[in-house]
Amino acid sequence: METLKQLYNWQQNLSETDAMPVLFMGHGSPMNAIEDNIFVQNWRKLAKEIPTPKAILVISAHWETKGTKVTAMENPRTIHDFGGFPQALFEVQYPAKGDPELAAYIKEALKHFAVVELDQLWGLDHGNWSVVKHLYPNANIPVLQLSLDYTKPAIYHYELAKELQLLRKKGVLIIGSGNMVHNLRMISWENMMAPGYAYDWAMDINEKIKTYISEDNHMPLINYEGFGIEGEYAIPTPEHYLPLLYTLALKNNNDKVSFINDIPIGGSLSMTSVIVGM
Ligand code: ZN
Repeated sequence: METLKQLYNWQQNLSETDAMPVLFMGHGSPMNAIEDNIFVQNWRKLAKEIPTPKAILVISAHWETKGTKVTAMENPRTIHDFGGFPQALFEVQYPAKGDPELAAYIKEALKHFAVVELDQLWGLDHGNWSVVKHLYPNANIPVLQLSLDYTKPAIYHYELAKELQLLRKKGVLIIGSGNMVHNLRMISWENMMAPGYAYDWAMDINEKIKTYISEDNHMPLINYEGFGIEGEYAIPTPEHYLPLLYTLALKNNNDKVSFINDIPIGGSLSMTSVIVGM
C-alpha cells in the first residue's frame, strides 16, 4: 500500500516537462571531486546549460549488484569507496536528499522488465558524487542511484534503460557515470598529471566509440566485445563502459549528441563525456 501511495504522489506532483537531456560522464579519478581542473570546469559549465532537474538518477560504474536495485532512502550517505587518497577526499560529504517516491515510481516503471529492489543500504558512491557535486554544489536536488546487474549482458542493460525514457519528461536528469576507456592496470602514473597522454589503442577505441555514437549506430557498441584486442585493453571489465549504454539507449531519433572532456589521461583512461538531447 505504501508503495502505491508513493507512486500516486509522484505522478500527481510531477507534471510533464520537456524531455531532459541525458548524460554520460567520464568520471576518472576520485580526486576530481576536490580538484579544480579542466574536467570539472567543463562539468560546472554544462550544469548551467541544463534546465534545473527535479531529481537526478545516476547509473554508476561503482554499484554492481545481483539483480537491479534503486536507492530508496530519505537521506543517502556519501560513500567513500576507494583507498589511498588524501584525507580531504574522505571528508567530502554530499548531503543531497533521496526521493523514496521516485524510487517507487522507477520500480513500477521497470516492473515488466526487471524486479527492482528498493534499497536502503547503499547511498551515493564516488562515481556519483565526485561528478554531481560539481554540477549541483548546493546539494539541493534529490539524487538516486540505479545499480548495474553484473549477471546480465550488455543488451539487457541497453533494453532496461529504454524503460526509463518516461523519466526524462518528468524532469529527471539521468546520468551514466563511468569511462569509455578504462584500464587502471595499464595506467602511466607519471603521465596522470598531464591530460592528453594516451596509448594508441586507447585513442583508437575512443574514436571508434565516438564515431558509432555520432552515426547513431548502437549495435556495435552493445556488441563491444567484437572490438578485438584493442577493445580488450580499453574495456577489460564492463562496469565503466555499461553506463554509456544506458545514456545511449535513452536517445530519441531527433536528439542531438555532443561530446565534452574528450581528453585521454594517463595513457589508458578517457574522460570523454556524452550529452544527449541538448
Ligand atoms: Zn570509476
